[in-house]
Amino acid sequence: MSKENNLLFIPLGGCSEIGMNMYVYGYDDGNNIDYILVDAGVTFPNPEYNPGVDLIMPDTSFVEDNLSKFKAIFITHAHEDHIGSLTHLFEYIEAPIYCGKFTSLIAKSKIDKGGGNSNLVKIAPHYPKFIKVGSFKVGFVNISHSIPEASGLIIETPCSRVFHSGDFKIDYSPVLGKPFNKKILSEIGKKGINTLVCDSTNVFNDHHGRSESNLFDNFVNLFKKVKGIVVATTFASNLARLKTLASAADRTGRSLVVLGRAMNNMINYGKESGILKDFPDILSPRDAKLVPKNHLLVLASGSQGEPRAASAQLARESYMGFTIGKNDVFLFSSKTIPGNEIRVSYIVDQLERRGVEVIEDKNGLYHVSGHANKPDLNIFHSLISPDLIVPMHGEYRHLKEHERIAKQSGIQTLLVENGDVAQISNSSNAAVIDKVDSGRIFLDGSVLIDEQEGIISERKKLMYNGLLNVSILVNEIKPYFNFEMDLIGISATVDFKKEILIHLENELNYSIGNNKPKKLHNIESYYLEAEVRRILNKFLKSEIGKKPHISICIHRMDII
Ligand SMILES: [Zn+2]
Ligand SMILES: [Zn+2]
Repeated sequence: MSKENNLLFIPLGGCSEIGMNMYVYGYDDGNNIDYILVDAGVTFPNPEYNPGVDLIMPDTSFVEDNLSKFKAIFITHAHEDHIGSLTHLFEYIEAPIYCGKFTSLIAKSKIDKGGGNSNLVKIAPHYPKFIKVGSFKVGFVNISHSIPEASGLIIETPCSRVFHSGDFKIDYSPVLGKPFNKKILSEIGKKGINTLVCDSTNVFNDHHGRSESNLFDNFVNLFKKVKGIVVATTFASNLARLKTLASAADRTGRSLVVLGRAMNNMINYGKESGILKDFPDILSPRDAKLVPKNHLLVLASGSQGEPRAASAQLARESYMGFTIGKNDVFLFSSKTIPGNEIRVSYIVDQLERRGVEVIEDKNGLYHVSGHANKPDLNIFHSLISPDLIVPMHGEYRHLKEHERIAKQSGIQTLLVENGDVAQISNSSNAAVIDKVDSGRIFLDGSVLIDEQEGIISERKKLMYNGLLNVSILVNEIKPYFNFEMDLIGISATVDFKKEILIHLENELNYSIGNNKPKKLHNIESYYLEAEVRRILNKFLKSEIGKKPHISICIHRMDII
């Protein structure tokens, strides 16, 4: 008896957080399964939880274990949370990687950086054309967001049609790229979509989203008023924002300077892909010094307070010899991502000390979001008109709220978390049926480590509690033990160190030296180590209220 065919949805990242998006779709015809991967993102670590970690990526062991069944990777857009892991994962992949033209330039540079094969990157045609891979047909549908060329995907299999929204907002005048196209999306909906897998980022915002083009007049009004230099920072990839800022500079007689490699790269990719047209000439920082201050607009990367970026360097002192001060204005045309508040406020503080007026986007005059708010999600749901909604791109609370609003419209939902295997062919069979390995991989310097390895929890213990190194020389005759000790990151006087050593020696002599009849060389090192750790932990906890990380090194005299 042949089994029923089925469409599977397996998020490896993105369905428990905003970041590291990576979604597997699987078509099971009853005998074989074909898989495709949608997006390959990263997320950024919070130094408090993951000290020293550079990037966080999803665990891709499911992909590695089923490599020959993966027919292609589809990248919806070039934000780091959708494309960033192409540098560090997937050197082994041989499947094609489909994306738009602008996205392809970024994807290639990321893959080259990681030593992978960038020839796998293919430019995808747009819907109504489809790409056929294995049992899947995938169409790229233009959608508005905060980066050029964002796409939703129609994913067709013999048993089901899915619309994977990607990141989107409803913007009818997006400055760059095509406007949100209600007509095409409602046509797609009318042809029948079984399941909508949908962005949940702004589900808690009750107002309609605003268009990118709303900002131009606000920038012009501000630039006119400022007597000195205006420095504006935003996300380097938000080319529409850079274009709006540059146009406002043009309107108010300000020449343009761009500081920061990330931003210059993005502008170059935008020009090369043909997306960024009519962008004004850019002055070098050196030439800019010859221009009167009230005729300059500086675009600077580092809106999230990244310490090495141009904004942070300008706040500290200077960037490539370029400085700002009294009468100048620093504008955040961006939202601070949760977790980055301390870094950003540090920059604000430094700028204020230099006499620079800082304008943060507190009331939406100078920034609009790239994601659909709750009323826009309702519009989108009704355009696509699916039988089933699976929320994605959100923490658990976002996914849950997205479920609530879909249910209020009478649409069935399925809540799927990272690692779940969900069948989503239609609303009647929708269910989570299995689990696969999922988790997080950390880029630590240039090494990838598994979250489960415990390295970061060790590092956190060092960070919060300090380190105690103890070397023990074991003798067969009294004194049985000789110690050397070193304390790092722990407040301890010379007397206190002596006190620790005396206590350790007494306790060890009592518990091992005197009470154990066995010869000391028969005592296993692990037992001795456990005993030393127990004694020190107990003593230090009672004396200083902390349990430092304890590193123990045991030496034994040669026994003749
Ligand atoms: Zn995005
Ligand atoms: Zn995203």
